[in-house]
Amino acid sequence: MSTKEKIESLREELRQHNYNYYTLDNPTITDFEFDMKLKSLQELEAKHPEFYDANSPSLRVGGAVTKSFETVVHEHRMYSLDNSYSKEDLLDWEKRIKKLVDGPITYVCELKYDGASISLTYENGKLLRAVTRGDGFQGDDVTTNIRTINTVPLILKGDYPEKIDIRGEIVLPFDGFNKMNEERVAAGEEPYKNPRNTASGSLKLQDSAETAKRPLECLLYNIEGRGTGIKTQFENLEKARNWGFKAPSDAKLVNSIDEVLEFVNYWDNARHDLPYETDGVVIKVNSLFQQQELGYTSKAPRWAMAYKFKAEQVSTRLNSISYQVGRTGAITPVANLEPVALAGTIVKRASLHNADQIEKLDIRINDAVFVEKGGEIIPKIIAVDLSKRRQGSQSTVYISKCPECHHELVRTEGDAKHYCLNYNGCNPQVIGRIQHYISRKAMDIEGLGDETVALLVNAGLISNYSDLYVLKKTDVLPLERMAEKSADKLIAGIEASKQIPFERVLYAIGIRFVGETVAKKLAKHFKSIDALSIANIDELISVDEIGEKIAESVVEFFSIKANHDMVQRLKMFGVQLELSTDVLANQTNRLEGQIFVVSGVFHTVSRNELKQLIENNGGKVASSISSKTTYVVAGDKMGPSKRTKAEALGVPIILENDFFQIL
Ligand code: AMP
Ligand code: ZN
Repeated sequence: MSTKEKIESLREELRQHNYNYYTLDNPTITDFEFDMKLKSLQELEAKHPEFYDANSPSLRVGGAVTKSFETVVHEHRMYSLDNSYSKEDLLDWEKRIKKLVDGPITYVCELKYDGASISLTYENGKLLRAVTRGDGFQGDDVTTNIRTINTVPLILKGDYPEKIDIRGEIVLPFDGFNKMNEERVAAGEEPYKNPRNTASGSLKLQDSAETAKRPLECLLYNIEGRGTGIKTQFENLEKARNWGFKAPSDAKLVNSIDEVLEFVNYWDNARHDLPYETDGVVIKVNSLFQQQELGYTSKAPRWAMAYKFKAEQVSTRLNSISYQVGRTGAITPVANLEPVALAGTIVKRASLHNADQIEKLDIRINDAVFVEKGGEIIPKIIAVDLSKRRQGSQSTVYISKCPECHHELVRTEGDAKHYCLNYNGCNPQVIGRIQHYISRKAMDIEGLGDETVALLVNAGLISNYSDLYVLKKTDVLPLERMAEKSADKLIAGIEASKQIPFERVLYAIGIRFVGETVAKKLAKHFKSIDALSIANIDELISVDEIGEKIAESVVEFFSIKANHDMVQRLKMFGVQLELSTDVLANQTNRLEGQIFVVSGVFHTVSRNELKQLIENNGGKVASSISSKTTYVVAGDKMGPSKRTKAEALGVPIILENDFFQIL
């Protein structure tokens, strides 16, 4: 056997063992034997880099780092599902669809897995791309992370069509979730709230080796491909299984809504024995022909319906109420409960929302309360068990002073929350605002984390985000756990943030109600912080999608002298407070309707600048070439596979100069 053959055969063998172990739960060799084989493969691969293959089982451990996840437009939209809660709802649905299709209808009942939805594209049997649901129209390309999930086949088995999109859910089984949390708590970190959010967070980690460490699984349930020759959803699942996917084997084919309800009732109980979280059942019309006839509403397929399990409730005692202060000064009351098991986790705290809620339910300390866990991260109190109320209990008096800084709280008309307005003298607000400023979607300051911000504030080194720019290495070195290297990194990170474009700075400075999208709109319209800071309500409202609430908040922000001064300081330190001129010069609709793919290294502009230019002129940037691509803009070292693909699809490849010509 040649070396190449040996490598190939080891890869094939390991692939099969992986599949047996993770997808079938049926290993045929010991872990030790597996590790030995993997080691031989790794050694051979190290000696023979010429036989590199991105799909090798040795690369499942990850290692590739993604700086920012590219947005990809879904070829087939990812819809949501309509919900039903009762037999009547289901019968109504059946009535509706019976009017739209002929013949008898059979249904497939599947469990509704509670995780992060994912769309996988395979071309010629190989995993090409994995994209999150995003807003349903476009999502993030998380392929590098998905490749580390063992139940996602990198290469399909058997006979598969040339191209398929297959959809499913990335879930984190309870076992793995609990283990991760034990480690976090041991390290003094806050435990993760629930498996679903942790699963979706895992897909957006920059270091794929980190994702690889998490015991994620991928469960598949929908195929969007053409030319599969399949006629029913039930066969779809079977086919997916044959290709090597883990497709819910608990799915059941039924003939009536009564049978659907049997399935629901059975799983409402049995689901507690499943290794992952489920929040209902999905009922799908089995015939793909009927599915096609039924089509979609603006947000969901007409041929499918989710049936949500009733949220679970328990009764427990309310021990005390604590009040948290957020970065905007908003006060959130939190119920501290006698710990109780609920839906697979131990619940100790519940959200109380606001003063009205406490008053409405007349929640008192020491009451027996009913706690419910729906889809939310934090369970909520839904009622008080008055029959168990102790004699002499007192109704709850909401706090009138900030628990952190003792400032008088205020509550404005029409706002359910109380606020502490001691903007610059209330620690959680001060810390929270700086933490927001440095966060990934804002200034993305590398080397500076939330805990360090708290340390810096508590040590009196900074009291607002503009103070970051005067920090010196010698200031931060004495901080707890701050080594030479991390201090250098922190200072360099702060310096680098001066390059962050205006729109993100505008988001970072934390004007209430100015999120990412609003910041973009405002930046585009006003072009500089100076112009924005003197805009009045009318001018602000005249901007597309800016309402009164946002306008008032912007005006208020700049009316506060401390904010005004802070912005002036940022400006002095060189933070971007206006749109850069070249970006400005090119705001047109010239590229409207055109879709570009950018590949390689460029000379006159960076890749990001090029993308920005395209978007500023109304064009779209996609991360992969399809028949819809208008142009591929090629720089040096453009990937050969992109070139081949563009040529195969007849998409013109243009150079940097050609692009500027078109502009
Ligand atoms: P919702 O987010 O509540 O609108 O529910 C729709 C989501 O349910 C889809 O985006 C999927 O991610 C998820 N889902 C979980 N299990 C299934 C299943 N068996 N079939 C279809 N969708 C499912
Ligand atoms: Zn306060």
